Amino acid sequence: MQNITESSLFRQQAFVNGAWVDADGGASFAVNDPATGETLGRVPDMGAAETQRAIAAADAAWGSWRKRPAKERAALLRRWFELIVAHADELALLMTREQGKPLTEARGEIMYAASFVEWYAEEAKRAGGEVIPTTGADRRLFAIRQPVGVCAMITPWNFPAAMITRKAAPALAAGCTVVIKPAEQTPYCALALAVLAEQAGIPPGVFNVLTGDPVAIGGALTASPVVRKLSFTGSTEVGRLLMAQSAPTIKKLSLELGGNAPFIVFDDADLDAAVEGALASKYRNAGQTCVCANRLLVQAGIHDAFAEKLAAAMSRFKVGRGVEEGVTIGPLIDDAAIAKVEELVADAVAKGARALAGGARHALGGTFYQPTVLAGATAAMRVAREEIFGPVAPIFRFDTEEDAIRMANDTEFGLAAYFYSRDVGRIFRVAEELEYGMVGVNTGILSNEVSPFGGVKQSGLGREGSTHGIDEYLEIKAIHLAGI
Ligand code: ADP
Repeated sequence: MQNITESSLFRQQAFVNGAWVDADGGASFAVNDPATGETLGRVPDMGAAETQRAIAAADAAWGSWRKRPAKERAALLRRWFELIVAHADELALLMTREQGKPLTEARGEIMYAASFVEWYAEEAKRAGGEVIPTTGADRRLFAIRQPVGVCAMITPWNFPAAMITRKAAPALAAGCTVVIKPAEQTPYCALALAVLAEQAGIPPGVFNVLTGDPVAIGGALTASPVVRKLSFTGSTEVGRLLMAQSAPTIKKLSLELGGNAPFIVFDDADLDAAVEGALASKYRNAGQTCVCANRLLVQAGIHDAFAEKLAAAMSRFKVGRGVEEGVTIGPLIDDAAIAKVEELVADAVAKGARALAGGARHALGGTFYQPTVLAGATAAMRVAREEIFGPVAPIFRFDTEEDAIRMANDTEFGLAAYFYSRDVGRIFRVAEELEYGMVGVNTGILSNEVSPFGGVKQSGLGREGSTHGIDEYLEIKAIHLAGI
C-alpha cells in the first residue's frame, strides 16, 4: 500500500481539545510528496484565533493532568508507545510520502521516536525532589519538582515524528500539556501521533496539534502569558526570532538549532571505520539533519586515501523515491533546499574545490541531488560556514591536532562533532577541547533516547532525551517549613 489516504492514521484536520477540527472559515493548504510533487492531501490553515483556543484547552486540561499520579501518566505514555510501535509500518509510509526519506530510514525514525515515549513513561515515575539538611532545628527544607505548565512546541520537517515525541513525551511525563505546531511540509506524522495519543487514552486538551501559518501560530504561542515554555527545533534564524518573541513573557526555552558539524579524521584513525562513519553521519536523510557532518577535516597523511575511499563509496547509494526497494537517498525537501545545495557547490567549485563524485543534480530531476564528495575545500568557501543540508561532503586538509581543533571550533555553532583516532591520549584531549554539545568518537551516529542531545553556542539551549530531558519541563519549588 502506497496510498496513504487508506491509512487509518491519515487525518486532514487539526487536533484540539480531543476533537478533529478545521480552520475558522475552512481555509486549508496542500501537502506535497517531495519525490513526485504530487499533492497528498490538505490540512487546515490555522492562525492566531485557533491557537488561542488550543492554548485555552491545554490550560484547562493542565489542572487535572498535573494532579494525576505519575504512575497513571506513565501508563498512558506506555500505551501510546505500544500503539506507535504497533503502527510503525503505517507511520513510516506516511513519513516517506510527506518527507521523502527511504522507508527503512522512516521506520528507523518511528522506532527512535517511540523510544522517547517509552523512556519518559519510565522517567515520569522518577521525577522526585529533595530533602535538604536544615539550617535550624525549628525548620525543615524541601525542594519539589512541578510541571512548568502549558508548553508550545514548534518542530521541523526533517524528523517529522521524533522531534515531536522527544519534546512531548517528557512534557507529558512531567505533567505539562502541549500545543504542537509541526512543519507545514510534514503535518501528517504529527496528526497520526495525535490519533494514537487519543487511542492511548491521553485526555482531551493534553496533546494538541495545530497546522497552519507559522508566523501567526508562532506569534500567538509566544505572546501568550499562559504558555510557560517554548521548545523549538529548527533554524538558528527562527530560533533567535522566537527567543526574542518570548522575551516579554520570560518563557522557559529549549532551542535545538543549526549545526556545522566537523568530522575529523586523524592519521592514526582506522580508515575503513572512518569512511563508514562519514557515510552514516553525512548521507542519512540525504544530508538533512542538524547533526550531519558538514565539514570533513582530514589529516594530511591519511587525506588522499580517505578521499578516494569515500568517493568510491558513493556508488553504493541508490537515489530515488523513498518508497522504492533499495533506495538509500531520497529527494531533498523542496526547491529552495536543492537551490541552496547547488549554490553552495557552485561557490566551492568556483573557489577551487573539485568534485571527486557527484557535484550536480541527479538525472531523476525534481529535488534529487547526487551524493557528492568535494576535495580541496577551504575556509573561504560558504560550505565552511553554512549548514549544507544536502548529500555533499566537503573535505578540508589539516596538518596538526591544534589545527584541527582550531578549524573545528571556528564557527558560531556547537551542536555535534565527530572524530576518528586510536590514540587514547588524543581522544581525551580532543573530546574535551571541542566546543560542542555532543561528540562522537569513532562513530558517526550519536542520537538515542538515553543520552543528552543538544548544543552550545548558537546551536541552542537545553537538552533533550536522557534523564536530563524531563528537567526542561519541571520547575523546582523550595518549601521552607518553620515553627516545628
Ligand atoms: P527549516 O529551515 O529546517 O525549515 P525553520 O526554522 O524555517 O527550519 O522551520 C522549523 C519550524 O519553524 C517549522 O515548523 C516552521 O513552520 C517554523 N517556523 C518558521 N518560521 C517561523 C516563524 N516566523 N515563527 C514561528 N515558527 C516558524
